[in-house]
Amino acid sequence: MNEQLMLLVALQDLDTMIRETQDKVHATKLANMGFALEGVDDLRNAREELAGSIEKALLHRYERISQRLGRAVVPITSNVCLGCFAVIPTAYTSMENREKILYCENCGRILYWPRGT
Ligand SMILES: [Zn+2]
Repeated sequence: MNEQLMLLVALQDLDTMIRETQDKVHATKLANMGFALEGVDDLRNAREELAGSIEKALLHRYERISQRLGRAVVPITSNVCLGCFAVIPTAYTSMENREKILYCENCGRILYWPRGT
């Protein structure tokens, strides 16, 4: 997988965690499950550090899409974008393209091939 894309997937995971700790109902649930919520500053620091390793243009695109659509980076499953369920162009399935950063032509989300596909 493209390294920038791997970083972006990790960034999205961190953003999800940060959002969840900000959501009171969810935070209570997490606390009951034994997750320490004091760690949110650590999450933010890790997020900043990670964001610094991602190309600016890609990061901006990610942030624009996530504001509009929520999840910005989605896997391709059965040649379908898991964000909007549109079928992806066949050219995307070539090994060469799997190393590139691909965008869904329908919803604009950033696509990645899950491991082992
Ligand atoms: Zn899509």
